[in-house]
Amino acid sequence: MVPSNVLTTGIQTPLNILIVGAGVCGPAIAFLLQKANHRHNITIMERGSTLRAAGQQIDLKNEAPFILEKMGLLDRVKACCVNETGLEVVDANDRQVAFFGVSPSDERGLTLTSEFELMRGDFVGVLYDASIEQDTKLKSIEGYRQGLQYKFGETVEKLDQTPQGPVDVTFSSGKYGGRYDLVIGADGQASRTRRMMFGEKASAASFHPLGIHGAYFSIPGIKNEGSIAKVFFSTGRKMVFTRPSDRPTTGVLFFLRGDFAQLDECYHQSIAAQKAAFTAILDGFEWQKDRFQKGIESTDDFYATKLGQIKLKTLFKDRTVLVGDSGYGPSPFTGLGTTLALLGAYTLAGELTKHGDNMGEALRNYENKMKPFIQEYQQIPSTALSLVFVSSRPAVWLLNQFAWVLSKFSTMMPQRPNVIDYRGRLPEYPELRLVDDTQK
Ligand SMILES: Cc1cc2nc3c(=O)[nH]c(=O)nc-3n(C[C@H](O)[C@H](O)[C@H](O)COP(=O)(O)OP(=O)(O)OC[C@H]3O[C@@H](n4cnc5c(N)ncnc54)[C@H](O)[C@@H]3O)c2cc1C
Repeated sequence: MVPSNVLTTGIQTPLNILIVGAGVCGPAIAFLLQKANHRHNITIMERGSTLRAAGQQIDLKNEAPFILEKMGLLDRVKACCVNETGLEVVDANDRQVAFFGVSPSDERGLTLTSEFELMRGDFVGVLYDASIEQDTKLKSIEGYRQGLQYKFGETVEKLDQTPQGPVDVTFSSGKYGGRYDLVIGADGQASRTRRMMFGEKASAASFHPLGIHGAYFSIPGIKNEGSIAKVFFSTGRKMVFTRPSDRPTTGVLFFLRGDFAQLDECYHQSIAAQKAAFTAILDGFEWQKDRFQKGIESTDDFYATKLGQIKLKTLFKDRTVLVGDSGYGPSPFTGLGTTLALLGAYTLAGELTKHGDNMGEALRNYENKMKPFIQEYQQIPSTALSLVFVSSRPAVWLLNQFAWVLSKFSTMMPQRPNVIDYRGRLPEYPELRLVDDTQK
């Protein structure tokens, strides 16, 4: 018998595709697939009742700006970029210890701030709007079928792989959701699609914890907070970043490393319980404690998570495939999660379009092409983590001195030539009919 994942679908055959999750990858891959073939039927299911616009600043680095340029969306993204002009390391008296500037998008510099910084919600909004606008334009073209549909407030309960190839889907409402040629799991780090594909045990084992807890939230800005981000390294292996970026609200990223049983518990509880757990942890914090504790209480975009990386042997099973954080989330600590996710969406759309006649080949190629990127982007030297999460006051003092030396060193060094050609190593897919391909 021919395995279901090598069954042919015909090169120009329009596909019936279900995408689970309308974060970064969901709308991006829908946009790319529909641009290449307006006859595809694409349904995106988002668990949230609306687009989830929460989240703090994300970076677009390396290949990401080139992909957005090809999609014709780079100018829209640039228009949403926030104004962050550097990163200051401060001591408990808010005195500057070290300063790092902005690094170009193709450099993994010493600083937090890169050329393309924008709020996650704005980026998701750009991709969502672009997918809707494109679908509206395509409606008048001959051959257009159902097009693109977003379904909010619902998710997938069950996936049944049929022996013929397509997947039968049951929605969380209990209703039969239809038969799809392909199901794409773009449902983030805690992916339910991944659990349905590989089982609870294997899915849980794919999460490799970094031993770091993180909380992200917005708080009201304060006068003259300006455009410079700050980081404060604290005793007890904690650190906090503030990112005002000339906005009325300031983004806060709070990280701590180690075993905190009360935090392990809280992720399974309500947002109120998570807020309470992080507020308690902040007791005794040496910098802006009251502001952060009050901010946690009043914020409506509190998001906390245990940081880790998703590592899987394979990204697909039969006709279900994972893209973005669900398949290879590198953790926000790399600063490359959104870049890798976008690269995944582009590569999957490219391979599906190129090998539309052979789904198995498309999925295998996608996996093979992504593997080196995943390996590269998931690298976090454990020494780097030990260096920045320190326990004692003398260790914090030493870390601050080290930051000062690094900041001076980085300004004295000549601009590093870019050694990686990020544009050049992007797989080429003229089949996707993107901006520079159609201009050739
Ligand atoms: C609310 C939120 C806030 C975030 N904040 C930050 C941040 O501040 N900094 C940072 O670096 N990264 C943040 N991230 C992660 C970042 O968006 C991703 O690392 C990256 O952009 C990859 O995107 P993705 O599309 O793979 O996953 P995500 O952007 O996580 O999107 C996944 C989407 O799937 C939806 N979903 C989840 N489960 C289901 C389900 N069972 N059925 C249907 N839909 C489902 C989610 O609601 C979400 O819309 C955040 C993610 C979320 C969801």
